[in-house]
Parts: sequence; C-alpha cells; structure tokens
Amino acid sequence: MNDQTSQNRVLIIGAGGVGNVVAKKCAMNPDVFGHITLASRTVSKCDDIAADIQQNWNRTIDTAAVDADDVPQLAKLIEQVKPDLVINVALPYQDLHIMDACLATGVDYMDTANYEPPDVAHFEYSHQWAYHDRFKNAGLTALLGCGFDPGVTNIFTAYANKHLFDRMDTVDIVDCNGGDHGKAFATNFNPEINIREITQRGRYFENGDWQSTDPLTVHQTFDFPNVGPKEMYLLYHEEMESLVKHFPSVKRMRFWMTFGQEYLTHLRVLQNVGMTRIDPVNYNGQEIVPLQFLKAVLPDPGSLGENYTGLTCIGTVIEGEKDGQFARQFIYNNCDHAECWREVQAQAVSYTTGVPTMIGAMMMLQKKWHGSNMPDKGGVFNVEQFDPDPFMEQLNIHGLPWEVTAWPESIA
Ligand code: NDP
Repeated sequence: MNDQTSQNRVLIIGAGGVGNVVAKKCAMNPDVFGHITLASRTVSKCDDIAADIQQNWNRTIDTAAVDADDVPQLAKLIEQVKPDLVINVALPYQDLHIMDACLATGVDYMDTANYEPPDVAHFEYSHQWAYHDRFKNAGLTALLGCGFDPGVTNIFTAYANKHLFDRMDTVDIVDCNGGDHGKAFATNFNPEINIREITQRGRYFENGDWQSTDPLTVHQTFDFPNVGPKEMYLLYHEEMESLVKHFPSVKRMRFWMTFGQEYLTHLRVLQNVGMTRIDPVNYNGQEIVPLQFLKAVLPDPGSLGENYTGLTCIGTVIEGEKDGQFARQFIYNNCDHAECWREVQAQAVSYTTGVPTMIGAMMMLQKKWHGSNMPDKGGVFNVEQFDPDPFMEQLNIHGLPWEVTAWPESIA
C-alpha cells in the first residue's frame, strides 16, 4: 500500500539513473507525493528501486511494466493508476507517445529532455510546442525540460531576469563535471542520447540568428567555483531555443560543457571507427545500430555512483544592465557526487536532473506552476515561463543550494 499523507498521485516512467532519483526524492516527500507508481520497460529495475525505498524510507511504491511507445498500453496503465501527473524520465524518443497517452486520458505531463526522432540526431522543441493547442483545449498542462540543463539553468535565467537585471544582453550556460568515476570512458547519462548530443555541430545564438561551428572546436578555460579551471567546449543545447524565445532582449546565448582530454580522445576514436553511427549496419545477418551496441558495452551511468568523487558546477553567467549600470552575475550550484551516493545511491548528474524533476512535479501538483494560472488556461510550457521564486526556494531545501555572485570576468 502506498502512503496516503497526500492525495496526489504520480506515475513516473523510466527507471534509469534519473528515474531512481526522482522516485526516491518523491518518496522522501510524502506530504506532496501521496501515491507513487514507477513504471518502465524492464520492471525488475523498478522493483529494485522500490525495494530500496522500502528499506531506506519505509515507504511502499507501486511498480509496473510498460512500453511507453505503445500508446494504448500506456493509456491503459494511466487509467489504472489514475495519476494527477505523468513524469517522463524515459528517453526523448518516448516524449510524443507519452504526451499522446496523457491527452487520451486527460492527465498533466512533464519531462526533462525534448523530443528527438530515433533516426535523426536532431532535437528541437517544434515537435512538442505543436501540442500546445491540444493541451490547452483539454485544459491540461505539459511542462517541458525540468531537469538541470534544460531546467534549472532556464530557471536561473528567469530569476536573473526578475531580480538581477533590468535588461539581459548575453547568457552563457556553463556545465562542468569536475568528478572522477575511475573509468577510462563512460557517459553520465544515457550513452546513446549523450553521444548523439555532443557529436553534433556546435550552435550558438547571436544578433537574432543561429551560428554554427564544427563539433567541439571552440573552447576556452573557465575557473569554476570550488572545482578550479577546466577546459569547456561550445555545444548546442536545447534550452537555448526556448530561452531566446522567452527572453528576446538577449543578443548572444551560448552553452559550454567541460570534457577531459581522455574523454575526447576516446570519443574521437569511437567516431573514427564508426561506433557512434546511428544508421543500422548488417552484422551476421542481423541489423544493429553501432551506437546502440556501444551503449550495451559501456558502463551503465546509474552504476558509476559508488566510487565517484568530486563536484559538478553548473550555472548561468549573465551580462546586462541594472539601474543604469553594467552588471555581470553568475548563478550556480555545486553538487558533490559522493554525497549524492550517500543520499540516494546516484551520481551527481542523475541527482542534479532528478531533484529538479521532483520539484517541478511539486510545483505542478501544488498549482504554483500550472497552465490553469496562465492566460490560455492550459497548454505546453517551458519552465522559464513560470515564477522562478518558489522553485528556487525548494532547490535550497532539497539538496541543490545555489549561489549568486558578481562575476569578475567576461567569457570571451
Ligand atoms: P537511462 O538510460 O539510465 O534510463 C532510461 C529509462 O527509460 C530506462 O529505465 C529504460 O528502460 C526506460 N525506457 C526506455 N525506453 C522505454 C520505453 N519505450 N518504455 C518505457 N520505458 C523506457 O537514462 P537516464 O536516466 O540517464 O536519463 C533519463 C532521461 O533524462 C533522458 O531523457 C535524458 O535525456 C534526460 N536527462 C536530462 C537531463 C537534464 O538536465 N535535463 C540530464 C540528464 C538526463 P530499460 O531499462 O528497459 O531500457
């Protein structure tokens, strides 16, 4: 039996690195999450997480097997569970199918990553924004991109816009994993999604247009608080698309991520030998996708946590004007891999994604963030469209405290 401290019911889909954190953080907050069901393709992964929750937090959650790409099957599960909210932490390929099932059953939706077609490594919000009228007409809310980046980085930008600037001119999102997991090569979230993302051409926004660069060619050193100087590389990242739409004063927006030389060398070799290809190849009479095969032999990101040490530092450096003066502010969070492991048996990349997902779900269930409060009374929203303050407060309470500091140097 689930605990009934609150009447709210959630269905979490996906029991990977992020799903583990979301389920545990929801279970730790019974006053908001009264009934939790965790469903995924492989139910044994849900059962393992449920057993952990029972043992560590003395709560029972329900589990189920579901193929979220099968819309009727998922709709049937939603009808059985009767959730107030479906939390999608499966893969970006499932986004549209899960949104379809939510529309079919009349339930609110949220996710952490925008839709990506399996056969083209290209992600953009157009596919999901196209659902706005259908959610609006049904009086339902879909909240997109509520992890850390996208997610908290958007909310940091909304907070800066509300409190720190009269006008924002440039935004640089900087993402550093200063941790060490002791493996020669591993990715910190789903390897297939991660490698598709970083091997694309770099893109950034300048003076109303997108500029592109060869993959991982533009880089510089940045001195990350509590981590130290690291080389960071310009990448395209999905939150820029919604942020330039919602904050039109911004003239330049870029996204940077740190990589070590060892990681880049492995990646280059894997690319050169064709292991990052996403088109099927024939192997012994069977079609296999090299990148999916590579995922099968790389370490499971969820398993990296036990020996992970060091900190992440992710934040937003913003330049603009306040009270007629030039201002530059850095809003960021540091997260400690070892502390995440102690708390929820996860590494910091899963943790920094899963905690904001839980908080976003809390915002929706408490109707602090909800389409019913917006002019259209429903629809599809990015996180920066809502008031950042209640979310920022909860970050400090649930394990991701943030800092704001006047930053001394411009990013070249
Ligand atoms: P994992 O690969 O560890 O987990 C994905 C889970 O989804 C697995 O349990 C998998 O099941 C399940 N799944 C896959 N396909 C289906 C399906 N058709 N039906 C039901 N379940 C399915 O990924 P992560 O936990 O690392 O990442 C989860 C999501 O979070 C991804 O979308 C990722 O892009 C996003 N993310 C967002 C970040 C942010 O800051 N915004 C940062 C990091 C990740 P099975 O085990 O059977 O394969």
